[in-house]
Amino acid sequence: MDCVFCKIADGEIPSDVIYEDQKVIAFNDLDPQAPIHFLVIPKKHIESLAKLDEEDKDIVSHIFMVIKKITENLNVAEDGYRIVNNTGEDGGQTVKHMHFHVLAKRSLQWPPG
Ligand code: 5GP
Ligand code: ZN
Repeated sequence: MDCVFCKIADGEIPSDVIYEDQKVIAFNDLDPQAPIHFLVIPKKHIESLAKLDEEDKDIVSHIFMVIKKITENLNVAEDGYRIVNNTGEDGGQTVKHMHFHVLAKRSLQWPPG
């Protein structure tokens, strides 16, 4: 399958990995939108949140606990961070492998202006 994030999970495409376990991998975004900007993905190919099957639902809570752990290790848990998930065309998803962005170390305006 021609999926860039599957290739990153396989190590076929190099990335700046910051966390890895049996089920997920986290790596820095190639085009960071904040001083800290990493992505957390399941190693299993799941196209998007909209395509998540009941049998895979536990991966989402696992990803959120991994985000909690990483942000604590990076010392940004206190100041805070933003988690972004883009789903499908209207959601602006460009890579069709479910992923969660984590952005920190910049005061982020909401709604974006
Ligand atoms: P999306 O727009 O699908 O939510 O986000 C995809 C993200 O993946 C973008 O922020 C983009 O910079 C990042 N990205 C795309 N290709 C690569 C890659 O090969 N390596 C890394 N580290 N990030 C990538
Ligand atoms: Zn994939």
